[in-house]
Amino acid sequence: MNNWPAWLPLREQLRPLTPYGAPQVPALARLNTNENPYGPSKTLAAAISKRVGEVSVNLNRYPDRDALKLRQGLADYLEKQSGVKLEIENIWAANGSNEILQSIFLAFGSSKALGFVPSYSMHPLIGKVANVEWVEGARNSDFTLNLSKAIEQISTYKPALTFITSPNNPTGSAVTISDIEELAKATANVNGLLVVDEAYAEFSSQKSAISLIEKFPNVLVSRTMSKAFAFAGARLGYLAANKIVIDAIQLVRLPYHLSALTQAAAEVALDFQDELLAEVAKLIKDRDKVAKNLEELGLKVIPSDANFILFSGFKESSHDLWQELLADGVLIRDVGLPGYLRVTIGNEAENQIFLKAVQKALKGAL
Ligand SMILES: *Cc1c(COP(=O)(O)O)cnc(C)c1O
Repeated sequence: MNNWPAWLPLREQLRPLTPYGAPQVPALARLNTNENPYGPSKTLAAAISKRVGEVSVNLNRYPDRDALKLRQGLADYLEKQSGVKLEIENIWAANGSNEILQSIFLAFGSSKALGFVPSYSMHPLIGKVANVEWVEGARNSDFTLNLSKAIEQISTYKPALTFITSPNNPTGSAVTISDIEELAKATANVNGLLVVDEAYAEFSSQKSAISLIEKFPNVLVSRTMSKAFAFAGARLGYLAANKIVIDAIQLVRLPYHLSALTQAAAEVALDFQDELLAEVAKLIKDRDKVAKNLEELGLKVIPSDANFILFSGFKESSHDLWQELLADGVLIRDVGLPGYLRVTIGNEAENQIFLKAVQKALKGAL
């Protein structure tokens, strides 16, 4: 809707925008938003219910607005994963990493923001909502990062914020830690921050940018429990950064932004990290299997370090193939790149349903 009525004092820069809206429609296989197909185990669900029950008797009180216990748990988790020593003061937590990203724009959007497209569509959208000018940086034609061009664009535009998503969404490819270090230097040279969106880090074989935080105080690493921890419904994202960055983020947080229920549930999920990461290992194996199967069908696959695959090489338009798969009960994602579609790795049955539907569609298009 962009013919808003005259009586509505909608901010000018919001008028041309459309709200985020990945289709939420029923399907046999829902493989469009990179959710983890494995719901919490019965033991984990029971443990969450128990903890939520315990905190429920105190719901007349505001929650711990500093979420100290949860942030300590997140610091310990990241330290275990990355080998980097982290303290509570290096971590912030919020309702999904989208809230983390919004806080970053609100606190540090003092001039332009730069990102290299195609990448996560919410970076420019949140930026525009926060009234930060968005500069679209370029990539190589195979969507890999063009490091020298990126560095050139950073020195030209001198952005306050530069975004890099690794593994990237929607392509799935990871950026090497040495390239990220070069971006950290380039952004530091223009007094800018480098925001590394690591929503899919647990699925990747690349080293996390958390290893750069000590040397480069301008590096911010955004993480989420939505994907690897199979916790999208609970809404928990977090940030690892220099203590001064975390201090500044608190200037823009809303009072008591993270409910006592969310904090309790996330603390329990962290206790089950070994169980949850075992499922990540299975998804990685299945991702590589699905990629191989797609190639066997004659399609092209971008090597993925995430829990989804971007593929091409079909004759129909992206929209037509997307539609045809949906008619067969398979919901995947048309990410707006002509000739490409993105599929999330599901459970074994969903992956089979998807592959069968693709095979059928490709035959029909001959
Ligand atoms: C899924 C995703 C997120 C996660 O958002 P949440 O708000 O934590 O659910 C963040 N960044 C990227 C690149 C994503 O793909």
